[in-house]
Amino acid sequence: MLTLYAVVPCYNEEEILPRSAELLREKWQGLMAAGKISADSRITLVDDGSADNTWPIIRDLCEAENSLFCAVRLSRNRGHQAALLAGLEASMDVCDACVSLDADLQDDIHVIDRFIQEYEAGCDIVYGVREDRSSDSFGKRFTAQGYYKFLKLLGVDIIYNHADYRLMSRRALHGLLSYGERNLFLRGIIPELGFRTAQVAYTRQARQAGESKYTLKKMLTLAFDGITSFSVRPIRLLSVLGVLTLLVSIVMAVYTLVSHFTGNTVSGWPSLMISIWFLGGLNLLALGVVGEYIGKIYGEVKQRPRYIVEQTIGNVSRFE
Ligand code: UDP
Ligand code: MG
Repeated sequence: MLTLYAVVPCYNEEEILPRSAELLREKWQGLMAAGKISADSRITLVDDGSADNTWPIIRDLCEAENSLFCAVRLSRNRGHQAALLAGLEASMDVCDACVSLDADLQDDIHVIDRFIQEYEAGCDIVYGVREDRSSDSFGKRFTAQGYYKFLKLLGVDIIYNHADYRLMSRRALHGLLSYGERNLFLRGIIPELGFRTAQVAYTRQARQAGESKYTLKKMLTLAFDGITSFSVRPIRLLSVLGVLTLLVSIVMAVYTLVSHFTGNTVSGWPSLMISIWFLGGLNLLALGVVGEYIGKIYGEVKQRPRYIVEQTIGNVSRFE
């Protein structure tokens, strides 16, 4: 029978975690009673360096009798993507498949039944896809959808309206962990893995308690990583722009020479000024983008660890 682990990254979630954990426990017990998952199935809670009571809550959950919970605690806040990866890595060798979901349970957990169906039908990756975004503010909806379209345009293969709510089989997880890159944008890597996949549509609720832990800065960093980790088109675009600028400068040269021989030398001044500013700006832009990629290479060659585990509880890998 399927041994299923849930992996839940938690960052300062004291307000909502007790309730979410209760709902998840009931869900897991229900699935066990229905014979859909084995009795070894667990829920791995990852504490992403929380500053509030999240870790004591997690520890108590793990230490309760017949607890269904396991825990991984990171040594400091590393961000959602790294915390999720830590939980997946800790869980993948003791289960057949993992479902990743957020601690606020905005994603309907009853969809997991359909995830399991697809898994049993032979899928290695099952994506939860949001049917509509009515629970988001207008601003978030607008920027998120624009961003997905922009990524597609840049040639990044991404599942539309899919966040990190998905089921992955053990072999898909091993594939994921074999990607050594440090800049994490899981949504971009996972479609590259291949395997048979399926999509399950669901409606996402609003957050019940606490505030979004995705600050604007965290969101922008993730969005930027998504682009620069997967696409070299910004660089290619610059080359094209460079060629076009060259063509323009030939026209400008001809124009300047003609003006010169017809005696209107003073009129060359505006075009000169414009050229200087334009080329100066272009140079700076080019340097900036190239620098961005070099920064990325710098980060990758250092091979820094993506996270450091401080402690684990329950049936998860020990990292020793
Ligand atoms: N999260 C995390 N580390 C962070 C930020 C967020 O582990 O630095 C977790 C958070 O606890 C939650 C999930 O990532 O389980 C998604 O965060 P949130 O619900 O705040 O994002 P939103 O739904 O607003 O996009
Ligand atoms: Mg949320």
